[in-house]
Amino acid sequence: MAEELPTYCRICEPLCGMVATVEDGKLVQLRPDRDHPVSKGFACPKGIAFTEVVNDPDRVTHPLKRRPDGTFARVSWDDAMRDIKARMLRIHSEHGADAIGWYWGNPGAFSASHTLWVAAFMLGLRSPHLYTAGSQDVNNRFVASEFLYGNPPTAPGPDLHRADLVVIVGANPLVSHGSVLTAPRIKEELHGVVDRGGRVVVVDPRRTETARAFDWQPIRPDGDVFMLLSLLHVLFEDGLADDAAIAAQARGAAHLRQLARPFTPESTAEQTGITPDTLRELARALASTERAAMYGRIGTSLGRSGTLTTMLLDAVNLVAGNLDREGGSMFGTLGAPFERIALRLIKALVPVGHDRGPRSRIGGFPAVLASRPAAIMAKEMTTPGKGQLRALFVSAGNPVLSCPNGDELEDALDTLDLQVAIDFYVNETHAHADYVLPATTMYERQDFPIPFQTLSLTPFRQGTDAVIPPVGEAREEWEVIDELASTLWRRSPLFFGAEMVRRTGMLTPRRAMDAVVRLAEGGDLFGLRRGGLTFARLLRDRPHGQVIAPHLRAGALRTVNLHGDRKVRLDAPQFASEIARLAERPGDDPAFPLRLIGMRELRSENSWMHNAPLLLRGGRKHLARMHPDDAAAVGAAEGDRIRVTSKHGEIELAVTLTDDLVPGVIAIPHGWGHKGRGGWRKANTADAGGGGANVNRLMSSDPADVEPLAGMANLTGVPVRAEVVAPAAQAPEREAATLGA
Ligand code: SF4
Repeated sequence: MAEELPTYCRICEPLCGMVATVEDGKLVQLRPDRDHPVSKGFACPKGIAFTEVVNDPDRVTHPLKRRPDGTFARVSWDDAMRDIKARMLRIHSEHGADAIGWYWGNPGAFSASHTLWVAAFMLGLRSPHLYTAGSQDVNNRFVASEFLYGNPPTAPGPDLHRADLVVIVGANPLVSHGSVLTAPRIKEELHGVVDRGGRVVVVDPRRTETARAFDWQPIRPDGDVFMLLSLLHVLFEDGLADDAAIAAQARGAAHLRQLARPFTPESTAEQTGITPDTLRELARALASTERAAMYGRIGTSLGRSGTLTTMLLDAVNLVAGNLDREGGSMFGTLGAPFERIALRLIKALVPVGHDRGPRSRIGGFPAVLASRPAAIMAKEMTTPGKGQLRALFVSAGNPVLSCPNGDELEDALDTLDLQVAIDFYVNETHAHADYVLPATTMYERQDFPIPFQTLSLTPFRQGTDAVIPPVGEAREEWEVIDELASTLWRRSPLFFGAEMVRRTGMLTPRRAMDAVVRLAEGGDLFGLRRGGLTFARLLRDRPHGQVIAPHLRAGALRTVNLHGDRKVRLDAPQFASEIARLAERPGDDPAFPLRLIGMRELRSENSWMHNAPLLLRGGRKHLARMHPDDAAAVGAAEGDRIRVTSKHGEIELAVTLTDDLVPGVIAIPHGWGHKGRGGWRKANTADAGGGGANVNRLMSSDPADVEPLAGMANLTGVPVRAEVVAPAAQAPEREAATLGA
């Protein structure tokens, strides 16, 4: 008998409402939820295709142990955990807690229990070796927010409901559907801006799908920092700055004005490729449009100065009078009592340690929300000495494909005394693991999206039950972590305390999620507000979710800004130090005349959904994109196989030609290069649409090339060259992929 159960997708930020059809305990279909009050029947192909992930015959559904020949054999949970715990205890005894580390990937952030339990485990362990996909994605946002607002997790987003001008820098929301922003119908929202007489401008080296739909402003890769400094220059020097907003919201504007003074649009035109007139017009539009917002994402994060760029994005919004204003760049809050105290507590527990706390052994990087740059993880494994990483747990991640220099990491993984994966595929990273433990998918767990509550343009709550029981022997990550922490309970005060609570049966994700729902706006405040929400009421009475307010509210900056005077720090010393660092950028190297950028594809989600047939159909290929002029310069034609070489590595793949690029730019999607051992058959097989090349082999993991404030890998604007390896007629029909043992 089929049941239709409302739930929501947790692949990316929109958290689209879905209806799951379940028959005899099996997920048989997912469709967009028309009754969802925010996504209103929208879902993308990845969300629909997730049935194929849940039911994938290649999925890991039983614990696996690696044999000496590199293949995997099924083992029992008891045997696996007994051996893992014994080896972890031995490493802890012989080398200390700082020999044990954890890496978690992007999907882990979309599970409340995973996020909370990994964070608590690493805090209890007191090991510095926490790594996340954030250093390939978003950590500079947290660091910029710490410097500006004293509050790492806060992030302003564009009020698309009401804006009349939206300037998007380095983001492609028609494909990504929004990043660090929850707005499921973002395409409609952006068209709505135009429909009410407004304008959307997309600043990007590539005429992305979003740029095609709106106004494209081309820019040179990694030139956004110069564009933003020139925008500030024009705002200040041409009398366009909103003095009232600056006086009310900020401290140190005169300092920033001084720093921006040399960056005239004329002086930055070469770095940006933007004419001075165009840049001045953009500054005037941002200042004169009553409701305007500038929004930057991944393209602005992965350059050499991502933290500075992010700080400047917010500074431009503020100086133009568009920060914390309706239709501008706005902040979300939980609306909970004592929210500032709670934010201070979070900050104390998981700090951005730029001015306190130990720095990483390799490269001397500060902690960012307790994590270190994943780019240095391999060297932390291979560099002898106190604190050498010897045991690594990896959950929901594939750092071999997502970190710079995956080859180095693969070699380093083989030096570990223990590697344990908790995931649902044997991917390129887990192929090196001693154990792969089967994890539940999102539809096999109860959930509430705690980290995304303040990122939604429409304040909104939705919880979900598991719609199916765990497939095979899969377990939720938190259950595994609980068992590990329990093993160490005598070795850490936090684990001791946790163990005491755990024995009462009260330490569960559901209690944590319930507490957030009850304390947040709309919650029942543990009985003080009659009829308010609890987690149970959300599931029972509001299965499609509950809108808390139609829009974000202006004035939230005073809640989220944790500085004592609640003023934004435009005189943060990092503005000056990072602007000074711009002068150290090396000049162009004629040996590497092209600039490599990444790009999103609608049917990819980083590296982990390339085994779903629905997403691979239609003869998909992993392709490099080149401008016809650049291709002609190296004699490349459509479909040729090319070699792309950087100072750090080389890859080969087929090329397609497009004038949707600024000349001198080559674009290659990330997340490809599959060669996992064992059963990830389609992802590993070029003829099935998988395979491809790992673009991060071209990126540097040298600490000197890692952005110093946030530890972000430099994954965009990387100098490369291209040459033809084989013409299209002779090139393999598809990218060859290695099928492992
Ligand atoms: S945009 Fe697609 S992948 Fe993202 S939450 Fe919605 S359905 Fe899921």
